[in-house]
Amino acid sequence: MTTFSDLGLPAPILQALTAEGYETPTPIQAGAIPHVLAGRDLLGIAQTGTGKTAAFSLPILGRLMMSDARPKPRACRVLVLSPTRELASQIEANIIAYAKFLRFSTTLVFGGVPVGRQIRACAPGVDIVVATPGRLIDLLNQRALTLDEVGVFVLDEADRMLDLGFMRDIQKIVSLLPKKRQSLFFSATMPPAIAKLASNLLSNPVEVAVAPVSSTAERIRQSVIFCPTRDKQAMLHGLLADDTISRALVFTRTKHGADKVVKYLNASGFKADAIHGNKSQNARERALAAFKSGSSRLLVATDIAARGIDVDGVSHVINFDIPNISETYVHRIGRTARAGADGSAISLCGEDERSFLRDVERLIRQKVPVVEGKLGSVSAPTQAEVPYRDPRAVRGRPGQGGKPQAQGRPGQPGSGTGRHGAEGAPRPNAGPARPRDGAPAQNRPRDASRPAAQGTDRPRGDGRRAQQPR
Ligand code: AMP
Repeated sequence: MTTFSDLGLPAPILQALTAEGYETPTPIQAGAIPHVLAGRDLLGIAQTGTGKTAAFSLPILGRLMMSDARPKPRACRVLVLSPTRELASQIEANIIAYAKFLRFSTTLVFGGVPVGRQIRACAPGVDIVVATPGRLIDLLNQRALTLDEVGVFVLDEADRMLDLGFMRDIQKIVSLLPKKRQSLFFSATMPPAIAKLASNLLSNPVEVAVAPVSSTAERIRQSVIFCPTRDKQAMLHGLLADDTISRALVFTRTKHGADKVVKYLNASGFKADAIHGNKSQNARERALAAFKSGSSRLLVATDIAARGIDVDGVSHVINFDIPNISETYVHRIGRTARAGADGSAISLCGEDERSFLRDVERLIRQKVPVVEGKLGSVSAPTQAEVPYRDPRAVRGRPGQGGKPQAQGRPGQPGSGTGRHGAEGAPRPNAGPARPRDGAPAQNRPRDASRPAAQGTDRPRGDGRRAQQPR
């Protein structure tokens, strides 16, 4: 079996990996590290969870060790571009851990926080800058940083960059990079625009592809519960009675949706925090720390905010709604069953989300087993648990062999009505699920071709104007 030292990494890096508890390289690490150490460009087709951060960070540190050069004032030697603040912070944290026995400087550059500290950090020159595009451009425009000395450029999650409308920013940044450089390009998917960007950026790259996005980790037990949208909160409540849900990430499509779910959960006695682009950096960090330490078992997140969150031991991913972009489903559920652990992904599918679910099933090339859920309620959590019947079973399509999870009960084909509850059962208090008239646009179903931009470094008090994703 390949070891990290077989890959040619220098001793101080190997020592740091031992300290981190890494024993063997993941496939993308084994495939990429020797080539990047040798100075080749890289096209990595991999998603979060595959170990891609170490796949580029470790050999970059190795390459920095090969030269004694120091960065000039306001310059950097390595630039890592990431689509979101969370991912950028995570990357920097990993680099710091891997460089524990080395003396390289790193700086994070992202929006939503005062710019002054970032300008001061760049002033003496930095070895590695990890940045999101918007704030980086601000610093470049202010001449607080120059890219003239970048020897290694990493573009991470290129497909997300495209989704978030960062393409123009990236082109601008790339135009400021030296022509002679090493470029490493990562993307989970390769739509034509990304393939074109990669071919413009990379020169004779090595290509390493792992875990295509349509494959979902085999250890993840997937299931879907059909339920009217208005009952979703109560259904989530019912699910949470299952104490095997030790650490759950609950995904919502919108920031407003995340806030509503947290409000409901808190009102129902469940400690939960939300993490999304409208939260201050401090609030996000607090929420993440509580989730990581286990003091809060629930974190409600939007897709963008959750990118790059690196928490092991997530027992469950709960899709409060079905993402309208199928790849997002794969990204979401990949947050569980990491590092060899088991995990479950439970999706709540409303009436208007059937087509999204069908798209997901087409992408992952499997049917997600249908299970039944139980409704819980704010006012009477113990009495109001009412079994919910699976509409597919009602129409003679029983669940596809999925074991009922949590509070699920087997279906009763032909006997249900498609509404929740047995005849005459009391209607549980499903909480404030129904959108009010005049609810913000972000709460309305969106065009499937338009992903929501959240948690990016866009216009958070840094003077940049919002740019709607294309
Ligand atoms: P990433 O895909 O870079 O987000 O990494 C996913 C998770 O795997 C992170 O928690 C890393 O710290 C961890 N990780 C990366 N490489 C290894 C490895 N070779 N052995 C064990 N854990 C790893």
